[in-house]
Amino acid sequence: MTKHQEGIPHMVSRVIQVDPFDLVIFGGTGDLARRKILPGLFRRFCAGQMPASARIIGAARTDLDDAGYRKMVAEAIAEFGSEHTPPEAKLKAFLGQVSYVAIDARGDTGWAALQEIMKGTGKVEAYYFSVSPALFGDLAERLQRWGMADQDARIVVEKPFGRDLETARTLNATLAKYFSESQVYRIDHYLGKETVQNLMAVRFGNMLFEPLWNAQYVDHIQITVAETVGVGGRGEYYDKSGAMRDMVQNHLMQLLCLIAMEPPARFDPDAVRDEKLKVIRALDPVLPHHVVRGQYEAEKGNAGAHPSYREAVGDPRSKTESFIALKTQISNWRWSGTPFYLRTGKRMSARSSEITVVFKETPHSIFGAEAGQHRNVLSIRLQPNEGITLGVTIKEPGPGGMRLIDVPLDMTFSEALGEGAEHVDAYERLIMDVIRGNQTLFMRGDEVEAAWAWTDPIIHGWEARGDVPKPYESGSDGTTDSQEMMRRDGRNWREVSP
Ligand code: NAP
Repeated sequence: MTKHQEGIPHMVSRVIQVDPFDLVIFGGTGDLARRKILPGLFRRFCAGQMPASARIIGAARTDLDDAGYRKMVAEAIAEFGSEHTPPEAKLKAFLGQVSYVAIDARGDTGWAALQEIMKGTGKVEAYYFSVSPALFGDLAERLQRWGMADQDARIVVEKPFGRDLETARTLNATLAKYFSESQVYRIDHYLGKETVQNLMAVRFGNMLFEPLWNAQYVDHIQITVAETVGVGGRGEYYDKSGAMRDMVQNHLMQLLCLIAMEPPARFDPDAVRDEKLKVIRALDPVLPHHVVRGQYEAEKGNAGAHPSYREAVGDPRSKTESFIALKTQISNWRWSGTPFYLRTGKRMSARSSEITVVFKETPHSIFGAEAGQHRNVLSIRLQPNEGITLGVTIKEPGPGGMRLIDVPLDMTFSEALGEGAEHVDAYERLIMDVIRGNQTLFMRGDEVEAAWAWTDPIIHGWEARGDVPKPYESGSDGTTDSQEMMRRDGRNWREVSP
């Protein structure tokens, strides 16, 4: 037992089997299905969460039979599953629950066969739209036409959920023609991360933080989601989107909501989502000088392997940002006057997602000016090394008077909770929530629209100004003017540390 574990009860994972279900994965041959959905389902199977009567039905245009699809699934699990080779018997049993239908979202091929498979099973029916959003409407319409959109069916839709308010509204309206809001599960996989949920546990399960969680005691809040990878093979898609649409409108916005929202009366889907929506609606518009954008340069000495953003997307004049930093405020009683700084980018110095709550200085230092000014800083690390650190001011040990230093009270969850704590990937948790019918960790349609309503004017602003993102060094913490934006406010970004 490590020193961190002392006094912490031994962790025992309790896995509760979900109800029998049939999950159809449209786009079952695609990248997301192979990398995340199928390996995740296999892990849930191994954990004993999937009943023996559950079926997973891959659906895409590629001409495959069940055996061919099972081979593809086995390869996906081998490549993207856990680092340990899965036990042969487990894999065989899992694959026995997997089948395939060749189907065209835009034609008639395959629909009669799928209807036959799904007829009167009496199980939970879920349809995962792991395809381009351009096909969402086609799938929804055909599910209804072929009698599969009954009121108990659930659909899971992937981001991007629109590229602006208008397209998000259209998409919502299209889905609403065939499914009620309680049947639609819009995935933002950030919400499925263990630490993101822990954010709610820390805020609303402890008395310690809530009294201080407001503009009176908090100086500012920083949210950073830094990636070391570039756009890779997603260049064409990414260049039409950029960091604002790809990351801020959804992932960072969700983190902002969870950190800033009022305590919901209950931990239930609409109570939580109502509170998040209030935060988004209270966000101030972002002023032009409170947003900076950047594009990464080629890696010094390694430009062949790591080209610049513009080279990677094949457009020497691209104005799309691979980095963005902005400052916003929430106009409500709790947060009025407290800045929220958001930052995300590719090819940054480390892969790190962190929320930092920087508290104000004490109103008066009894130790005099030489003791220095100190602030408590609460850091919530979402990845890697999920955990929480609270910076506390103490006396520097030893003789020589009252000198103060800041030390971290560190709780890295993997150390504190030990080996027994089960690691569940965001996708597998969220898919199991779909089967359970729990929408708490999924975005509601009005939330998505409110987020676009805030995002659109910022994007229109820089488009109207003809703003061109500034270059930044690969492996840095973004553009120098993002540092400048902080310095103007007398603050600094936290170092992006792995
Ligand atoms: P992908 O690799 O291009 O896969 C697309 C899938 O759709 C394939 O299985 C394809 O199979 C199928 N498909 C295409 N046209 C079809 C049609 N007319 N009828 C039926 N099936 C059709 O895309 P992906 O990366 O898996 O992404 C899927 C969705 O998830 C997208 O909305 C994406 O934005 C979102 N997403 C992906 C990731 C990721 O990490 N990949 C992350 C977040 C969100 P056939 O060619 O065999 O038909």
